Amino acid sequence: MKTIIIGGGPVGLATALALKERGATNDITVVEATPLGAEKFSDRNIALSAASWRFLSRVGVDVARDQRASIETVEISQRGAFGLLSLNASDVGTNELGAATPYPALKNALNDALAKTAIAVHHGATVTAIEPVAQHALVYLASGEQLRGDCIALADGAGSDTNLVPAFKRTERNSGQTGIITRVQPTRPRPGVAFERFTPGGALALIPRADGQWTVIWARPNASGEHMLAIDDESFSRELNAAFGSSMGALNLTAKRTSYPLSWRFVEPRVAGCIAALGNAAQGLHPVAAQGLNLGLRDADSFAIHLAHANARGSTQSVSAALAAFARGRAVDRVTSIGFTGVLTYAFDRGGWLADVPRGLGLTALQLFPPLKRELIARLALA
Ligand SMILES: Cc1cc2nc3c(=O)[nH]c(=O)nc-3n(C[C@H](O)[C@H](O)[C@H](O)COP(=O)(O)OP(=O)(O)OC[C@H]3O[C@@H](n4cnc5c(N)ncnc54)[C@H](O)[C@@H]3O)c2cc1C
Repeated sequence: MKTIIIGGGPVGLATALALKERGATNDITVVEATPLGAEKFSDRNIALSAASWRFLSRVGVDVARDQRASIETVEISQRGAFGLLSLNASDVGTNELGAATPYPALKNALNDALAKTAIAVHHGATVTAIEPVAQHALVYLASGEQLRGDCIALADGAGSDTNLVPAFKRTERNSGQTGIITRVQPTRPRPGVAFERFTPGGALALIPRADGQWTVIWARPNASGEHMLAIDDESFSRELNAAFGSSMGALNLTAKRTSYPLSWRFVEPRVAGCIAALGNAAQGLHPVAAQGLNLGLRDADSFAIHLAHANARGSTQSVSAALAAFARGRAVDRVTSIGFTGVLTYAFDRGGWLADVPRGLGLTALQLFPPLKRELIARLALA
């Protein structure tokens, strides 16, 4: 049985490794548009839950220790009002809730793990069309080459303009917010702590980096986002420090500001015959709760489990049944993850005491009742 994975991003590569782990290595090909070594890596610092790290380690991915910033505590607070919630690894009896790593370090570790397998990765090969034919699918490449697969994992992320599978309908919702991304060096760093602070207009997240700095992701309403990008470093730094407060002393900017449009995307159906969409090809989340890749890695794991059953049965009919079961199995996690980040974004971006007081009470209640805290840690899939 031949499986073709379209897209060699973190989800596509993790899917290939998860399939290998499940013994489905008979014939797997990954097709990635960008030539190896020519990737334009973003400065993205990816926070992954402890559960995601366990999955990566299980499938043979080893990110160097000096490329990992451990997250032992997540502090959640709101600007200008009471209420502080501190989620600690000790609340769930572990050493860490997760860790952050630069996107390039993660990609390199995934590529290194794949290089130790017999799985073929075609770099610099762009898929231009997929055509279902009976129980199979034909995959057309820009080079004119044509591949035939019994199962297709579409992991081409959000970047692909071409909707390679017309049966997959995309619904997109613009959040009306822009994410401002930069880096800071605090004067009183608190290693191991990630911050989620709700400011009027949008959430402000500070995620520790392996180099001792913090990545800033600040969601602003579009007009304010434009303003934040236009002002000089000194003015932006003033705004940022006022919004974040002094829990790490002063935050000194160490990088240029970039921006990212914040939206949700949802592809439904996500399975058509022998083709399934995974990761960002299936859904795009607002990065407020750093959940996108965590969700994508759970897609990869589940896809491999279902396909291993079909492989064991050895018939092409069983592939479409396995993928249908995969789609059903992933539905709840997908919907709740999208809904949860939606609640975080909209319930927490309003100012005024009518919103601040119940929010502060909610944070305080969570802080005071360990079972509620543990439930939230589980919801964030941190443990
Ligand atoms: C600012 C920001 C911060 C984030 N922080 C976090 C975080 O802290 N934690 C977290 O869990 N998530 C985070 N995310 C989300 C995370 O980055 C994505 O969920 C993840 O990158 C999705 O991986 P993917 O492999 O599905 O897609 P992608 O990373 O987009 O990879 C898709 C791949 O497919 C290839 N491709 C596209 N079209 C074709 C084609 N036609 N033919 C062949 N190849 C093709 C592309 O070249 C690319 O390599 C963040 C996102 C943003 C924007």
